[in-house]
Amino acid sequence: MALHMASHKGKAPISVTPRVRSERSRDQIRVPSSSPSLDDISKEFFSALPQKSNPSYAWVKALFLQILKEMGLTITTIETIVRRGTTQAQVTFDETRNVKLGYDDNWLRTLDEEEIRAVLSHEACHIAVLPYTTYHLKMGSQSFVQWQMIFIDLYDEFLAHEEFRRRFGGSKIVEAYTNVRTREFTSLDNVLRLSKSGAMDEGHALFLILNDAIFFPILGRPEFLQWCKANGLNNTYSYLNWLIEDFNYVESLRLSRVETMDRVVLAAGLWTGVDAGSLLKEDKIVFLPSAQKAEDLVREKDPPLTESWLQRRLAMSAS
Ligand SMILES: [Zn+2]
Repeated sequence: MALHMASHKGKAPISVTPRVRSERSRDQIRVPSSSPSLDDISKEFFSALPQKSNPSYAWVKALFLQILKEMGLTITTIETIVRRGTTQAQVTFDETRNVKLGYDDNWLRTLDEEEIRAVLSHEACHIAVLPYTTYHLKMGSQSFVQWQMIFIDLYDEFLAHEEFRRRFGGSKIVEAYTNVRTREFTSLDNVLRLSKSGAMDEGHALFLILNDAIFFPILGRPEFLQWCKANGLNNTYSYLNWLIEDFNYVESLRLSRVETMDRVVLAAGLWTGVDAGSLLKEDKIVFLPSAQKAEDLVREKDPPLTESWLQRRLAMSAS
């Protein structure tokens, strides 16, 4: 469990008055505070797994540059950084395309070269679809700030996986990336167990799971549905499909990046009307009393989105 890390991109924060500057969320959320050192955790955790490659720093950088070139993506500068224990692999970049690729070298050694190529190709997809990886967030408490990042991260994974499908659908690289993501199911098992035992907040657990899982339906892969069925989580899969419907809708609006983040956060007010605990513990979709209030709040700014959730809620209460 210690190493259920941010598997994808991370983003540097930005301050745009009256928005807020904030630290990256996922690292803080995922790393246990009692950890002796992140280097030690990473080493201990990943050295226990099969070692499939031994990529040098220069090799990783050269491969990433080659992938960017093959994908026709132009960048200004590239910096590769080893970050152990918090992040598997992630890119950050600003508007002028100064790119930082961070990765855990201990984790990378558990992948074969084809899988490393797949992971770096996924990261390159973030560069292909986003103007920059900076968050624009609404001001509030630290938990509110982190709450916003969780949903924006999930939406950005959706965008990156769509791009991955467009560019690599049907190719060997999808198989390789599927293998990488499927291996993460042991982490999802742990997240599920922790949430069921009360050791992890259920909403937090749900979105950790969905962040890793959204790859599968976007690529038309059955593995996450199979995992849900094996764990009695059919309605979690249905819930994820609702979110994907919303993501498709938000994408269709073709808003600016800042407006998109605002819209995702607005939509999240509706998503969190579903009780995460009932989903994960009882496989039930239960709307919280706050759901109707959220609809009232969102309705004026986005009537179609609100209508979708009203219909979903009414359908559930009728069944
Ligand atoms: Zn990603």
